[in-house]
Amino acid sequence: MTLVVVGAGLAGLAAAWELQHAGADVLVLESGRRAGGVIVTERRDGFVVEGGPDGFLAAEPDIQDLARALGLGDRLVDQLARGSMLWTGGALEPLPEGRAAELLGIDLQGHSERELDRGFRSFAGGMAEIVDALLARLGAAVRPDRGVTAITPARHGWRLALTGGSAQEAEGVILAVPGWVAARFLAGAGVPGGGYELDAVVYYPSITVSLAYRADQIRRPLEGTGFVAASDAVGARHAVPLHIRACTYSSSKFPGRAPRGYALLRAFVGPIEGDPAVVAHQTLRDVLSLTGEPLWSRAFFWSRGIPRYPHGHAARVADVRRRLERLPPLAIAGAGVDGTGVSACVKSGREAARVVLRRLG
Ligand SMILES: Cc1cc2nc3c(=O)[nH]c(=O)nc-3n(C[C@H](O)[C@H](O)[C@H](O)COP(=O)(O)OP(=O)(O)OC[C@H]3O[C@@H](n4cnc5c(N)ncnc54)[C@H](O)[C@@H]3O)c2cc1C
Repeated sequence: MTLVVVGAGLAGLAAAWELQHAGADVLVLESGRRAGGVIVTERRDGFVVEGGPDGFLAAEPDIQDLARALGLGDRLVDQLARGSMLWTGGALEPLPEGRAAELLGIDLQGHSERELDRGFRSFAGGMAEIVDALLARLGAAVRPDRGVTAITPARHGWRLALTGGSAQEAEGVILAVPGWVAARFLAGAGVPGGGYELDAVVYYPSITVSLAYRADQIRRPLEGTGFVAASDAVGARHAVPLHIRACTYSSSKFPGRAPRGYALLRAFVGPIEGDPAVVAHQTLRDVLSLTGEPLWSRAFFWSRGIPRYPHGHAARVADVRRRLERLPPLAIAGAGVDGTGVSACVKSGREAARVVLRRLG
């Protein structure tokens, strides 16, 4: 019995791990050259640079439970600094816990103030640690450069057409791909009504720019974990548009992000003209009184970054799932359906795996 997971982001890898754990024969088909999806950690000159997510709420159990099951329990690290600020155009003012993440589109709904107060956690070596641990367990089951182009019903389940013209049959399939990709597959798979609901999820473009400095280049004390720039959306009184939406003081937020005597800053830049690293440095120079140039910078471009759901999304997803029950085992998972945070993606992937296993008895 072969079960296929489409997409090797965190949701897909968590789903595959759950299936493998249950003794199933699993294949993870990934269109990209590397697994992990939007989770990217790079190490450079003793710095740990995150391209996508950098942590998760300490109150979220799913990613931590998986980490412990993978033997990574002692790699979990707590947030060092607390609190974040709002740049009002002339000053940095304190923001309530969790508000900064929310302003950046990270879904914290459903978390109480007490849960938010527990702060964020990450992995000692960065978020890719959990991806690497999953890949080590899954081994050759994960196939990069093997994109799926279509899914059609087959005699015993599903037939997946792959890039390059080959095909793969599977008794059960989990789609752990972005919403718009899943929508296309569901329509082609003959799901009654298609999966147009998932196409309504909007993925916002974003650029993250990490910049390395010597600590003595930063003349304004770095208070808290960073700041969010005021905009109309946050209802600031003296909003002065900045070219960056926010900045995380990475080396203040989590341990081990920069060598002693150095600082790592990460700016969130919207779509702009010009070099985002130059724009980020110039903006940070003004806000944080920086001197000189960064030692280096690294930009990650997310043309479709964090998703935002339309009103009524959860009910529509539930409806899609009801329609899937009438077909051979086919499940949907990931940030396009069940929540944008990494912990929600782990939960979503594992739950999709359990659904498929139940359906197959
Ligand atoms: C810049 C940024 C910062 C973030 N910060 C945080 C944070 O601090 N905390 C937090 O909790 N969350 C954060 N998030 C959100 C979180 O990281 C993501 O929502 C989550 O990792 C998505 O995981 P996923 O597996 O659902 O999707 P993805 O990571 O998008 O993985 C989907 C995979 O499917 C593959 N794929 C697509 N099409 C096909 C196909 N046709 N065939 C095969 N494979 C295909 C893709 O290549 C990709 O590898 C952030 C996201 C971004 C972009």
